[in-house]
Amino acid sequence: MIPEAPPFRVMPFTAPESYLGAVKHGGEPGPDSFCFVFQQALLLIAGGAPGAQLPAHDDLVRLDGQPLRRLYLGTLDQRDCYAYEYPVDTPPPLDMLWLGLRSLYNKLDDSLFALAGRALQYIDWDRTHQFCGRCGTPTRHREHERARECPSCALIAYPRIAPAVMCLVRRGQQILLARSPHFLPGMYSALAGFVEPGESLEQCLAREVLEETGIRVANTRYFASQPWPFPHSLMIAFVADYAGGEITPAPDEIEDAQWFALDALPKLPNRISIARRLIDGVVGEMLAS
Ligand SMILES: [Zn+2]
Repeated sequence: MIPEAPPFRVMPFTAPESYLGAVKHGGEPGPDSFCFVFQQALLLIAGGAPGAQLPAHDDLVRLDGQPLRRLYLGTLDQRDCYAYEYPVDTPPPLDMLWLGLRSLYNKLDDSLFALAGRALQYIDWDRTHQFCGRCGTPTRHREHERARECPSCALIAYPRIAPAVMCLVRRGQQILLARSPHFLPGMYSALAGFVEPGESLEQCLAREVLEETGIRVANTRYFASQPWPFPHSLMIAFVADYAGGEITPAPDEIEDAQWFALDALPKLPNRISIARRLIDGVVGEMLAS
């Protein structure tokens, strides 16, 4: 008998089960449509940060001017979802706010939060692919898939996703954490880096850990993945064992790296990120073993 696969770990920004993606041009939003309204990376929120809600479709007439773009996203619980982008400096209606998506974690409903991350990426992709990257002709939407096409040379541009690998290295009852210069003071995290063309995830992981800390790893195990919409990453997290080397932080990239005992961990990233889920998950397993 084939053993049942364990349930995958659901991270913030993972597509909700009741979401069905679709592409449709034309068709008008109705009163029960979900409207994800952005100004750059800021989302329009009714009701303030605690108990945050999306604006109703009828509320959009209270915004000055016209949207720069509107994209159909599909349905959530059989309700249509639309993403809008309004021009920079569009003032919010009296009882609404423009808020950064990160600040809405655990305040907006989880499903809406996840779709807001997807909407943000589609809006950003649509905005930055208005012209063909090969010949400069204005592009247009493809009818049946999420893509923009050049009518002149037929180049197709799909939403861009940049895979990045994350790794937590174990050595006995210690874990390797590091900090970049741009981290909040005192905060450490697992190591991470973008995958290069021609590189497998495992090769990327080994290279990043070696480049950033001088540590060699072995016995790599998959942990989980997370869509990360700032701006368009897919984080793929692993745990690995120490296989040799002395900590030598990469100048400019890594401010400090240390082996931390499980009872003396530093300040860690927020639980919105897979980094924290990875650290909590691995530390939990180590304490239980
Ligand atoms: Zn072209």
